[in-house]
Amino acid sequence: SIPGAEVDLGALTLRADLRGKSPYGAPQLDVAVRLNTNENPYPPPPELVADVAESVREVAAHLHRYPDRDALALRGDLAAYLRGVTGVELAAANLWAANGSNEVLQQIMQAFGGPGRTALGFAPSYSMHPIIAAGTRTEWVAAPRRADFSLDAAAAVRAIEEHRPDIVFVTSPNNPTGQAVPLDDLRLLLAAAPGIVVLDEAYGEFSAAPSGVRLLAEFPTRLIVSRTMSKAFAFAGGRLGYLAAAPAVVDALQLVRLPYHLSVLVQAAARAALRHTEATLGSVAALVAERERVAAALSGLGFSVVHSDANFLLFGRFGDPAAAWQAYLDGDVLIRDVGIPGRLRMTVGTPVENEAFLRASEEVAARFD
Ligand code: PMP
Repeated sequence: SIPGAEVDLGALTLRADLRGKSPYGAPQLDVAVRLNTNENPYPPPPELVADVAESVREVAAHLHRYPDRDALALRGDLAAYLRGVTGVELAAANLWAANGSNEVLQQIMQAFGGPGRTALGFAPSYSMHPIIAAGTRTEWVAAPRRADFSLDAAAAVRAIEEHRPDIVFVTSPNNPTGQAVPLDDLRLLLAAAPGIVVLDEAYGEFSAAPSGVRLLAEFPTRLIVSRTMSKAFAFAGGRLGYLAAAPAVVDALQLVRLPYHLSVLVQAAARAALRHTEATLGSVAALVAERERVAAALSGLGFSVVHSDANFLLFGRFGDPAAAWQAYLDGDVLIRDVGIPGRLRMTVGTPVENEAFLRASEEVAARFD
């Protein structure tokens, strides 16, 4: 047997506060139709693949040297992209990038959270927010949403005033429920927050609501907008997340980031992918149209569907969501049980994948009525 096979977690001197916790664990199963992790279902176009390969080939000649620690060229490209979609005058100094927005969020928690500090989110939301809080020993407070999962801004302000958190997490559009938060509501939360407000816009491109980036000039000491290339950009495997904030926030994050955290390969690949933004984001409109079609079809089957501004749908109701999830899987369709009573979440796929999902849904509707 392998060395250490007889030892389990209980035998380790693990931090007491991590004992009994579960890691992030979206199942990675080999299933024909995978609609469970909110990726873009369209593979990158051949020109993008060629450009990534060529760019990576070029930098491979310099692999004996560390990468640009500050990823300045990439941050400039991200600033140009975000300027284009938001109309806000951003420079490279406003942008920061890391290996997925999960790393961005972790760096934020390391710099602005930590022992003795508190972060507050509005549940149900992205499951990694409390997990990163736990990893950085930031106390986590979960405030509620409305019964329809939308964010009640007045109640949110009251929760912020009650708990005075060092960090407030707002996900817009919210994962796993789908609704975006209007700018006016964000303004109320920002005005009430004593510290940082992290606006997680991982699904921003799928929403018609304006980006919170527009509020950066108004709240430079509080607002951090986190984004990712994992969803609309079809770059989940490339691992590139980023944020927009005041340059001072970026300076603060440099105190906790590991040097050379973004490899020369990732920087080159991400820059290449950004040169094909138009082609990649061409799929967004198609996915939004499919979202509306699937939502209507699910309603037609008698399901209740939560309004979504993202590339996924939360739907139900199921007496036994775990059994319904398994029934989908038996039909070769992998969706997500996010632990919300009576509901499951499906990621909008290609029309062919969505048809397979809807066919499975007909059977599930009949069996789990
Ligand atoms: N934020 C939200 C709301 C997400 O749903 C996800 C991915 N599921 C992330 C952040 C992290 O994505 P990544 O690390 O791939 O950028």
